[in-house]
Amino acid sequence: MTYQELKTEEQQYVMNTYGRFPVALDHGEGATLWDVEGKQYIDLASGIGVNSLGYNNPVVVDAITAQAHKLAHTSNLYLTGPMVKVAKTLVTATGMGKVFFANSGAEANEGAIKLARKYSFDKYGEGRSKIVTLLNSFHGRTVTTLKATGQARFHNFFFPFTEGFDYAEADNLDSVKEKADSTACAVMIELIQGEGGVLPLDPGFVKAVEAFCRERDLLLIVDEVQTGIGRTGSLFCFQDYGIRPDVVTMAKGLGGGVPVGAVLAGKSCCDVLTPGTHATTFGGTPLVCAAADAVLSVVNDPEFLASVREKGSYLRERILGLGSPDIEGVRGAGLMLGIIVSPEKRAGIVNGLLEKGVLVLTAGQNAIRLLPPLTISYAEMDAAVEIMKEVFA
Ligand SMILES: *Cc1c(COP(=O)(O)O)cnc(C)c1O
Repeated sequence: MTYQELKTEEQQYVMNTYGRFPVALDHGEGATLWDVEGKQYIDLASGIGVNSLGYNNPVVVDAITAQAHKLAHTSNLYLTGPMVKVAKTLVTATGMGKVFFANSGAEANEGAIKLARKYSFDKYGEGRSKIVTLLNSFHGRTVTTLKATGQARFHNFFFPFTEGFDYAEADNLDSVKEKADSTACAVMIELIQGEGGVLPLDPGFVKAVEAFCRERDLLLIVDEVQTGIGRTGSLFCFQDYGIRPDVVTMAKGLGGGVPVGAVLAGKSCCDVLTPGTHATTFGGTPLVCAAADAVLSVVNDPEFLASVREKGSYLRERILGLGSPDIEGVRGAGLMLGIIVSPEKRAGIVNGLLEKGVLVLTAGQNAIRLLPPLTISYAEMDAAVEIMKEVFA
């Protein structure tokens, strides 16, 4: 079917919940995609940071195919090998405690929120359930994670939301201390606010929040749904910040294109969730864990992570080197970058890039967000920058 034919049927049969780009994608190879009409794109988005190893990567495709032939799914009433293997890899790589598998970022955050509240309930009883998040954060689209998200525009329509969230200013320790009163049990942060605009938190602030959480026995939850699994050039962004979170959530890049999320908890709180207190039908199913295992077999390697940092600096320098007056800066880490432009010009630039064959994302008011596959080649980055040159000119 052509784009137009698909669009017509989509409008008839699919709920209108996305402001989609006028493109229907068909297949990909590396960091290059083709639409249903055969037009080629360089992908600087990887879904939304999901296709971490690019398209048609044999490591991922072979792992999924082999597992599909063996056992795609069974319930969590039985043990399976891939799930245990991925958990062991995550725990060994971080020195943390244990893993719970979910199916998405929002669900991983829901699990972390439940864990934090039960940790506090078990130790201190009722009345200590508030979770402090940051203004401008993003934590998901369920009724609870919408409320965890520190942006008023998400707190609409779906009342009543889950109670027990409050929002502190990023990089303002006094604000965190004020909100995290005696009714709080946790602080939840993204180290680089992704949807909010590719905004890295100040390392001094993050260290101070960590110390404050220790002092008050608040769990420090780091939402690494976007920053995790090599995106910033470390397996997890918290490692760049030199902190030890109590709970880390992840999803997007973990499965290399299949839906899998996880809650990784430290030794002090990894036995809080017990039989009957948390579960999911699909979580940790062998198919997605085989994919996650394949992704981790590539990403959890110092040389690969160094290559992500090198590609990130290269792409950043090449973009800054365009010298366009429309580019006010580039922020972020590794291959999570935001090109800062004026809000008025952004849509025109993004559409210009799409037209000439480069896929990008936006974030916040003024960022063009880049989350390319971590395996993107230098030739693909060069080709994308050449197109940016034309569009910014
Ligand atoms: C995308 C994202 C989520 C939500 O993940 P879903 O898989 O869409 O539920 C949560 N937190 C952060 C930081 C994200 O970037």
